[in-house]
Amino acid sequence: MCRHLAYLGPPVSLRGLLYDPPYSLVRQSWAPRNMRGGGTVNADGFGVGWYAGDGDPVRYRRAAPIWGDVTLPALAAATLAGAVLAAVRSATVGMPVQESAAAPFAEGRWLFSHNGVVRGWPDSVVPLADRLPVRDLLTLDAPTDSALLWALVRHRLRADADPAEAVAETVAEVSEAAPGSRLNLLLTDGRTVVASAVGHALSVRATPDAVLLASEPVDDDPGWRSVPDRHLVVATSTSVRVRALAGA
Ligand code: GLN
Repeated sequence: MCRHLAYLGPPVSLRGLLYDPPYSLVRQSWAPRNMRGGGTVNADGFGVGWYAGDGDPVRYRRAAPIWGDVTLPALAAATLAGAVLAAVRSATVGMPVQESAAAPFAEGRWLFSHNGVVRGWPDSVVPLADRLPVRDLLTLDAPTDSALLWALVRHRLRADADPAEAVAETVAEVSEAAPGSRLNLLLTDGRTVVASAVGHALSVRATPDAVLLASEPVDDDPGWRSVPDRHLVVATSTSVRVRALAGA
């Protein structure tokens, strides 16, 4: 299963975020510490999305392991951002390894990632997909569970749902349709981050002016809090709220 992280706060270099910490996302791609039995390495692609100025986020994604990417280290060292979402992917067996299947998925200001698996894919979620506009299904980023989850969340966002509700409702309907699914979702517009912990690990560290959410702590600093299972985090750079999801 993938590992992902999101940062909001004063601008930092992508290198400082993704490479430098002792248990950085890059290290987690080959030596994750807490995959809860869901895979071993995260070698099936990666993606980084960041907000440059006031515009929509920029993405850099590839279908290969992040550790072998020869472009990203220099790009990361030269790039500062105050809002970042990044992920390394371990494809679920049977799902394609391609760039468009690597998070973050994006539309407008939104960036989205999923760490986990939808059980019984694809049959279990046919009734949910059936409620989406046909166009959304024809233009799904990839034939994967994560891309469908993004389409379900995005459909709610397009209808002006509150982002926390969009994530909570999607987790609830997929949990009901596909029991046992692992649904760690991560959504940001560059100002607020919404993250669910359902079946996989999630940690959060808040400092006075920044917040970092990650599948696994990127260092051994004392400020990390582990998010309980079936809980939702809503964070800005200066606030963190954690609440129970249905069924917690
Ligand atoms: N099922 C997702 C995929 O194949 C897995 C994401 C992850 O957690 N590995 O893309």
